[in-house]
Amino acid sequence: MIIRKSREEIAKMREAGRVVAGVLDMIEKYIKPGTRTDALNELADAYIRERGGTPSFLGYRGFPASICTSVNDVVVHGIPGRERLREGDIVGVDVGVILDGYHADAARTYAVGEISEVARKLMHVTEDALEAGIRACRRGNRLGDVSNAIQRTVEAGGFSVVVQFVGHGIGKRLHEAPEVPNYGKRGNGIKLEKGMVICIEPMINLGKKDIVQENDGWTIRTADKKVSAHFELAVAIGEKKADILSTFDFIDEVLFASYLPCTPCGLMTP
Ligand code: MG
Repeated sequence: MIIRKSREEIAKMREAGRVVAGVLDMIEKYIKPGTRTDALNELADAYIRERGGTPSFLGYRGFPASICTSVNDVVVHGIPGRERLREGDIVGVDVGVILDGYHADAARTYAVGEISEVARKLMHVTEDALEAGIRACRRGNRLGDVSNAIQRTVEAGGFSVVVQFVGHGIGKRLHEAPEVPNYGKRGNGIKLEKGMVICIEPMINLGKKDIVQENDGWTIRTADKKVSAHFELAVAIGEKKADILSTFDFIDEVLFASYLPCTPCGLMTP
């Protein structure tokens, strides 16, 4: 069942989203060679708690940390640890926060120092795919329109969509219906209606789409060991525009620089 949110609930989710976005902003300056991923986890955890939130991921089905850190060929769900970032790495950071009973969830991939041209392109195409998905989040459109917009963007860029993991609804629970695949057919799926809140999160591989899960039960890697990128934002379906809940200025600058000031594409800055 898809739980549509009231204006008041969406306002609460935006507050949680602000904390998530704050983490992704704060953490950027620590993304450099030599930083341990468990240090990123501690910074994020402290930031969230100082603002009255609780990390959504810690303990979720037994997940042992407050954020996911996914380096290079790790697609998603990397567990922070003693691993140090190195020049040329890319690292996905996924953050979830529950605040006043409502969750927010967002992710982005960062470059560690200078990265290869192809890794940079992968990151750009993944951002573009997220943006294309958000643009398709119009009331009356169908979920397949969102999925298809993501898939087309990725395939035009020459990369591969991970199919085993999908975006999701969000609210009082971290993962709610509907599932939001990053591939699909236009015109298929449920109709988007006002008050639906969904997380769109393309997970995109440089090489083939195949993935493997590590023995830790969490870490998902590309089967061909090539790098993978992940970007995620939550949006509420409004009367006309997609209302981005877990973003703020820095993400607009980073993700949507080429689209601002943007009304034609339907993005709305809180
Ligand atoms: Mg998510």
